[in-house]
Amino acid sequence: MKIFKTAEALHTERIKLSNRHISVGFVPTMGALHNGHITLVQQAKTSKPYVITSIFVNPTQFNNAQDFELYPISVEDDLNQLEAAGCDAVFLPSVEEIYPPGYVAPVYPIGYLETVLEGAYRPGHFQGVCQVVDRLLQIVQPNEMLLGRKDFQQCKVLEKMVELKQYPVQLTFVPTLRETDGLAMSSRNRRLTPEQRRLAPQLYQSLILIKENIDTNDTRYIITNEINKLEQSGFKVDYLQLASANDLQPLQQWNGENAVLLVAAYLDKIRLIDNIEIAAKSAR
Ligand code: AMP
Repeated sequence: MKIFKTAEALHTERIKLSNRHISVGFVPTMGALHNGHITLVQQAKTSKPYVITSIFVNPTQFNNAQDFELYPISVEDDLNQLEAAGCDAVFLPSVEEIYPPGYVAPVYPIGYLETVLEGAYRPGHFQGVCQVVDRLLQIVQPNEMLLGRKDFQQCKVLEKMVELKQYPVQLTFVPTLRETDGLAMSSRNRRLTPEQRRLAPQLYQSLILIKENIDTNDTRYIITNEINKLEQSGFKVDYLQLASANDLQPLQQWNGENAVLLVAAYLDKIRLIDNIEIAAKSAR
């Protein structure tokens, strides 16, 4: 597995690959890798002969300085996991490599998508996500980019950014990998205390319960009920909301369309997110 620390070195490799007509799959990450990340790499390997993973904790997408400072870093362990998964190359840039002196951050007109849910609670977050992925796409020039559905809104935002910039890259959204008790795998799970770790799967249990009852019950009532249960267990819920899976417009009531239930909640200072998709009645 090759390791590239500069955009220039990676660019040289990219030209060699292009000359040999080898197409490239790309998995952007912030490191502290777990099996959720690794499934993206493995899936990339099934469709592309050469897979590049980036590890870069992007400062511009953290709206909370402490969350950035406490973000877990485990590069050596990450590299071992990537090597075992068959990753071909890792891009490990410095901040200056991604944002060189003189870099002027563009403003991405992603509109409504950055005003709701994560966008409402983390101002500026999605502009930061667009900045870093835009730079990475310019440097890596992949044929396919794989993103996790765990960050459902991020998938929508990046789909929009790729469309705005007209990048010729195929996007693949990979289902969320979970622990056996249902907790969505996340780098932030490492920071949970044993007691918080015991509570954390309740988020997914709430999503499941709402989904199972959505056809027969008043949506607002069951959602409010689950928010109350979570708060009583010690979560501080930012949102637990039903939205259209197409454009993330909020839905007060499920009327049989493609929808997604999204949740973000704190356990003390650790913010966890999750979601579950609800297929349209017509697709059942
Ligand atoms: P991150 O390092 O958190 O920025 O995540 C890098 C990529 O891995 C993003 O596309 C995430 O959506 C994806 N990802 C994170 N956790 C999971 C998971 N549990 N299952 C599938 N993909 C995930």
